[in-house]
Amino acid sequence: MKAIINATLVMKDHLIPDGVLIIEDGKIADFGEMRTTPVPEGCDIIDAKGLYVGPGLVDIHSHAGGGVRFEQDPKKAAPSHLQHGTTSILATPGYRLTTPEYIACIDRIREAMQSPEGENIAGIYMEGPYINPNFGSLKHLNPWAGPIRAEDYQPVIDAGADLIRVWVLGPEREGILDFVKDARKANPNVKFTVGHSEASPQQIEALMPYGLCIGTHHTNATGDLPKYPECRGVCVDEAVNNNREIYAELISDSAGIHVDPYMQRLIRRIKGDDRIILISDQTSHAAMNPPGFDHVTDINFTLMENGGIDISGSKLYLNGACRNYMKHTGASIVDAFRVGSYNPAKVVGLTDRGEIRKGLRADLVITDHQMNIQSVILKGEVKL
Ligand SMILES: [Zn+2]
Repeated sequence: MKAIINATLVMKDHLIPDGVLIIEDGKIADFGEMRTTPVPEGCDIIDAKGLYVGPGLVDIHSHAGGGVRFEQDPKKAAPSHLQHGTTSILATPGYRLTTPEYIACIDRIREAMQSPEGENIAGIYMEGPYINPNFGSLKHLNPWAGPIRAEDYQPVIDAGADLIRVWVLGPEREGILDFVKDARKANPNVKFTVGHSEASPQQIEALMPYGLCIGTHHTNATGDLPKYPECRGVCVDEAVNNNREIYAELISDSAGIHVDPYMQRLIRRIKGDDRIILISDQTSHAAMNPPGFDHVTDINFTLMENGGIDISGSKLYLNGACRNYMKHTGASIVDAFRVGSYNPAKVVGLTDRGEIRKGLRADLVITDHQMNIQSVILKGEVKL
């Protein structure tokens, strides 16, 4: 057994100062104020020294870790996230893989999940294949721009049905409902997101009864459908904002480039901390920072064919995203854990983690007030 003492416990909606948390058999056995919660004899004592102890972070959308893509080497990508407090991560292949490449990638991730290096991988988030081919970095290389055909997608569904928790799609793609139904046949609990899309709100809402409940990197790679010149149209962002059932993924980088700090505050006001999911969307390909952006350390830039500059994911880990979200929106550390652990775990069905509660997995981080992670505990074992 282990006991974390002198902890400020971060609960779902409040703090417990001067707290203690007991770990037994990899699970949270007990917690509370130190003066009323007995520490069993023989416990290994971990002194949190007054720092915050919250649930391990849950990153549902990340393509890479430490400069290595999950689709290449998941065993190398996953540990760097664990060292930053992410105790559960969904490995995210890109949308440019062919059917055989997807299958090989899924097999690699499955093998990694059974190894010590991949123990924080909790499944797969499929960013594709059926996004709108007009969106995404390197979109000209998208092999899935043609018609939706079962002979292309069914082998991918079959290969990953037990691991894939989320599929990103463009609801405007012709024939998308066939794909959605087949994906649900393989896994009735699978979730869908609208992403890399310019669907109308009606096209998005039509898929909500089938499990569409997330907006992928809200306000990034989402279109605009103006009906009249000089009039803002309604499109993906508006549908995500307007439907309370839809959670909004947010990339919160330090400079507020993916999502302007003002926009982050607006999204927080509209969606609330109970409907926002922070993601890293970490990628690996990095061009040089363009002139004037030397200070930006947590974004990947790409050069476009026309010589212009685009952004292409981040170098973020989720603890940094939590720190930035607090900075840009004024959220508290309780709110940061809500959007960085509780919400994402809940949405993708990881029901045994994401908060401090008796009986849940002892996935925990010890952190200062700026989410500088001091210690990481996974299934009761100290990893950092
Ligand atoms: Zn992504």
